Amino acid sequence: GCSSQRQLLSFPFGFLLFLSSWGIMFQDITTLLLEPKAFKDTVDLFVEQYTGRGISVVAGVEARGFIFGPPIALAIGAKFVPLRKPRKLPGEVISENYILEYGSDCLEMHVGAVQPGERALVVDDLIATGGTLCAAISLLERAGAVVLECACVIELPELKGRGRLNGKPLYVLVESH
Ligand code: AMP
Repeated sequence: GCSSQRQLLSFPFGFLLFLSSWGIMFQDITTLLLEPKAFKDTVDLFVEQYTGRGISVVAGVEARGFIFGPPIALAIGAKFVPLRKPRKLPGEVISENYILEYGSDCLEMHVGAVQPGERALVVDDLIATGGTLCAAISLLERAGAVVLECACVIELPELKGRGRLNGKPLYVLVESH
C-alpha cells in the first residue's frame, strides 16, 4: 500500500525529489474552466465513460478533484465524497499518509460516507507519481468500497503513476509529456 513508502521519507530524499520536481511544468486547469463549452465537454466525456456502471460514489481529491467530481457525480446519480487534507473535515475521519514529489501529505475521509460494497470512482485533475490516487484508493477500500477506476483530466506518463494504483484502471483525457 501507500503507507509502506512512509519510511522512505528522510530529509535528503525529500530534498532531492524537490529539486527534480523543478523540471516539471505546473499544469493549470483553471483556464479550461473559463471556457464553458470546453468545461462541459470535459465533464461529458467522463459522464459518458461512467454512466450505467453502477457507481454510487464519486470521491474527489482536494482541491481540484472538487471541481470535476461533483458535476460527474450529479450526472451519473452518485453521491460525492470529498477526500480532504488533514483537519478540514468536521466529523470522525480515517486518514492515509502518502509521499509527494517532495515531502509527504495526508488525505482524510469521513467515517460513514461510504458503505461496504459501494462501487466508487476516484476523480482528480492530474496524476503525477500516483501517490495521491493511491492514498485515495486505500481510504475507500479501508471503508469497504469497491474502487472501479480512477479518472483524471491530465496524466504525466513519464512519472509512471499509473503503475501505483493497485491494478485499478486509470482513464485520462490528456497526456502531458
Ligand atoms: P501525485 O500524487 O504525484 O500523482 O500528484 C498528483 C496531485 O498533485 C494532484 O492532486 C495534482 O493536482 C497535483 N500535481 C502534481 N503535479 C502537478 C503538476 N505538474 N501540475 C499540476 N498539479 C500537479
